Amino acid sequence: MYLDQAVLTFGRAMREKYGFKVHKLAIDAQFSCPNRDGSKGIGGCTFCNNTSFSPNARKPPTVDEQLDAGRRVIIKRTGATRYLAYFQAYTNTYADIHYLKSLYDSALAHQDVIGLSIGTRPDCVPDAVLSLLSEYQRQGYEIWLELGLQSSFDKTLDAVNRGHGFKEYQDAIKRAQRYNLQVCTHLIVGLPGETMQHSLTSMSRVLESRPSGIKIHPLHIVRGTQIARQWKSGEYQPLSLNDYVDTVVRMVKMAPEELIFHRLTGTAAEDLLLAPAWCSKKWLVLNEITRKLEQYKAEHVNK
Ligand code: SF4
Repeated sequence: MYLDQAVLTFGRAMREKYGFKVHKLAIDAQFSCPNRDGSKGIGGCTFCNNTSFSPNARKPPTVDEQLDAGRRVIIKRTGATRYLAYFQAYTNTYADIHYLKSLYDSALAHQDVIGLSIGTRPDCVPDAVLSLLSEYQRQGYEIWLELGLQSSFDKTLDAVNRGHGFKEYQDAIKRAQRYNLQVCTHLIVGLPGETMQHSLTSMSRVLESRPSGIKIHPLHIVRGTQIARQWKSGEYQPLSLNDYVDTVVRMVKMAPEELIFHRLTGTAAEDLLLAPAWCSKKWLVLNEITRKLEQYKAEHVNK
């Protein structure tokens, strides 16, 4: 069994909708984050690699150059010839609306870019942004708003210095849905102080908000973060592969069939990742998830 036979992956959802492969091309448009610059918080989330916010350390190529480079890699690797420009790094709605429009327009000017995926925080989506995104959608583009929630527990969000609570997420998704936007909610498994039960409760609360998609990944410990210091001092223990897979399988089983899973794992750059080591083996993790989903299905068919 392949993963996309067990769950509705983003890849399968796009193939079924358009009849061809659609891939996200990740873009770092040099945004900052309100949880860094003092407008929402200082220091950022404890798991965020803040050193990469240093202006001198970040001189990424232009949006056009990033799309061109990403396309060259993806075409070879997957054969996909249509793309979503995925504004992924940092808070991609944290700028003046005219600037945002010019940036998004520049990505959509590429013939093979059929839409946008915009990653942001729930407390950073004013109606002007939602209205702009819904206008692109009205023009026929495939539009996703990716909201980083990570946990539905305010205690956890406080502990990782997230700078927003669950309420802000509920407000953001409600407003996005009023604009008929597709929302993909991001959750992290293995946050400090959380157990499998926390992840299942967060999944259940998120499902109540009726997102169109979900992205799940394990907490990575990367260099230069507060969580790395907590890990080194023994204050934080990373998840085991088994615990991660078991949690994700249960989360998947809670979801309605039409929910699109944008991701079921994730990793960090090799030179940044400290732990857990299994995070870097994406296919090992996905194969384990697929195997357990298959096993779960077999057990339930035989009952
Ligand atoms: S909201 Fe995102 S970009 Fe901002 S500090 Fe947290 S993880 Fe980093």
